Amino acid sequence: MKGVRFWGTRGSLPVALTSAGLANKLRGVLRAARGQPLDTDADIERLLASLPFALAGTYGGHSSCVQIETGGPDYVVCDMGSGLRPFGQAAMAQRAGKPQTFHIFMSHLHWDHIMGLPFFVPAFIPGNRVIVYGSHRELEMALRRQQEPPSFPVSFDTIFEGRVEFVHLEPGVPQQAAGMTVTTMLQRHTGDSYGYRFESEGKALVYTTDSEHPLADPAHTERFVHFFRDADLVIFDAMYSLADAISVKADWGHSSNVVAVELCQLARARRLCLFHHEPVFDDAAIEAMLAETRRLEEITRGAAPLQVSAAYDGLEILL
Ligand SMILES: [Zn+2]
Ligand SMILES: [Zn+2]
Repeated sequence: MKGVRFWGTRGSLPVALTSAGLANKLRGVLRAARGQPLDTDADIERLLASLPFALAGTYGGHSSCVQIETGGPDYVVCDMGSGLRPFGQAAMAQRAGKPQTFHIFMSHLHWDHIMGLPFFVPAFIPGNRVIVYGSHRELEMALRRQQEPPSFPVSFDTIFEGRVEFVHLEPGVPQQAAGMTVTTMLQRHTGDSYGYRFESEGKALVYTTDSEHPLADPAHTERFVHFFRDADLVIFDAMYSLADAISVKADWGHSSNVVAVELCQLARARRLCLFHHEPVFDDAAIEAMLAETRRLEEITRGAAPLQVSAAYDGLEILL
C-alpha cells in the first residue's frame, strides 16, 4: 500500500465554491499581497505558498470517494460519491486503451456515497471490470434502483452491460481482495454503515465514515480502538463539532473531530485525516476545525504524536 488520494471529501451533498466565496478569497489574497514584491512569477509563487490553504486553495465539494494506491495493477476505491466521476476521468487518461479492473469498497448505500456510479465512464467501456464490495445485503439492489425511472434516463443494465460485479464481505472476517487483507466492521449509522481496515506490506489503513460514536459506551469504544489499532492512517467522519455531536445532532449518525482524536490516541494510530466535511462549512470553517483538532492533539498528546490533516479533493497522503 503506497498511499491514498482523495477525490471527494464532502458529507451528505456535493457543494461548489460560489462567486461570493471566491470574491472573499480574492479580497484576502489581495490584502496579504499589500507591500509584497509581485514583479516576477517567482514572487507570486512565494506569496501563494505563504497563504493559508483556505485563502489560496479550497477543500472542494465532491462527495465521498477515496482512491487507495496499492502499487498493484488494479485501481482501488472507497465509496462512489460524486468524486468517482473525476477519478474515472483520471483513470481513463492514465491507462487509455488498456483493459482495467476497479475494486470499489462501499461503506454504505446512502445517496452521497453511490451517486457517482452512473457517471463512472470506465464502467461504460467494454473490457473493463468493476467489482463492488460491501457488507450490505441490499448492495446490488440500491445501485440498480438509483438508475430506475423516473430517477435516471439510462438503466443499469443498458449502461454497464454486465461489467459490474458484486462481492459480499462478511463483517469482521478478514478477506483477501485487490492484494490486501480487508476487514469490515459494523458502525452505528441509520441503515448501518461499515468501516474498513485494509492491510498490506506491513501497512494498515482504516476508512471509517458515516459512523456515530456514543462516548458513554465503553464496549463500543473498545471495539473501535481495536479496529484502529496501530493504523498508519485513519480516515474519519468528523462532520460535526463535539458540541453538535452530543447535543442537537446526537443520533444523526456522524461523529466529531474530538472523538476522532480520542479514538486514534487510544489506538496509537499514527495519522488522522478528518473527512466527510459538513456541506454548510466553508473553507475557513474547515480550516478552523483542523486548527482546533491539532491544538487538542497537542494538549492531550501521549508518548507519540498523532499527525492530523483535513481531507480535500486532490489531497494525496503517502503511507
Ligand atoms: Zn455520507
Ligand atoms: Zn450516510
